[in-house]
Amino acid sequence: MNKGKKRLFILLGMATVLLYCLVFAVIWLIMTSESAFWRHVILIGLMAAFVVLMLQMVLGLSCLIFGLLRGVESPALQKLGRNIVELFYPMVMRIGQLFGISKEEIEDSYIKINNQITVSSGQKYQPEEILVLAPHCLQRADCPYKITMDVHNCHRCGRCSVDGLLCIAEETGVHFVVASGGTFARKFAQEYQPKAIVAIACERDLTSGIKDMHMQHIPVVGVLNERPNGPCHNTTVQLCKVRQAINYFMKE
Ligand code: SF4
Repeated sequence: MNKGKKRLFILLGMATVLLYCLVFAVIWLIMTSESAFWRHVILIGLMAAFVVLMLQMVLGLSCLIFGLLRGVESPALQKLGRNIVELFYPMVMRIGQLFGISKEEIEDSYIKINNQITVSSGQKYQPEEILVLAPHCLQRADCPYKITMDVHNCHRCGRCSVDGLLCIAEETGVHFVVASGGTFARKFAQEYQPKAIVAIACERDLTSGIKDMHMQHIPVVGVLNERPNGPCHNTTVQLCKVRQAINYFMKE
């Protein structure tokens, strides 16, 4: 996995911690400017909350960095790292944009970090517990077959990645569906009740999908689609990356 891209999220996470420290220092200065009793009470409460928050953030960041450098497999590290990433996400997004970093780059970094955390849990599943979820834009725009209803309606002409994904699903035994949007992706997740998902999509859809599934405690490895014809039109995916993502989850 690309370490450079993962580091972006971690660096922005560190900037978030620094910003929180700065805000706290300013509040501290204001609160200590007078000596009324209630100010001291608020100050102590504020300090306790700040210390807990900072400890959580620094510990979570350290786990992420440790896991990133060493490739450690640990469900406990995975849980802590996951919570900290979700806690950081809104602020990281704002700070990144302040530095002129595009939303897409930050989402890409978030997806890479998510994948690292998911893989580091080391949890394995049976093929039938894994769902590969692909976007409708992978299908050739001029293909007449309705594969969102049933992906086996594909006539396997080989003009788009759907054919290759069907081959992978047949070889590995995982479920494979094509969804025409977030609502349908959620519907498929409900229908198949997977224990793990390999999701293929753009940065925006993967980010929201990962967050959605995180709420349902379903681990997701995200694979970015490629868009040689612009967004949402005749997109493709590197099949080797999809197979690699399935292998992360599969029992030997
Ligand atoms: S492989 Fe061919 S038949 Fe199948 S979805 Fe793609 S274009 Fe349609």
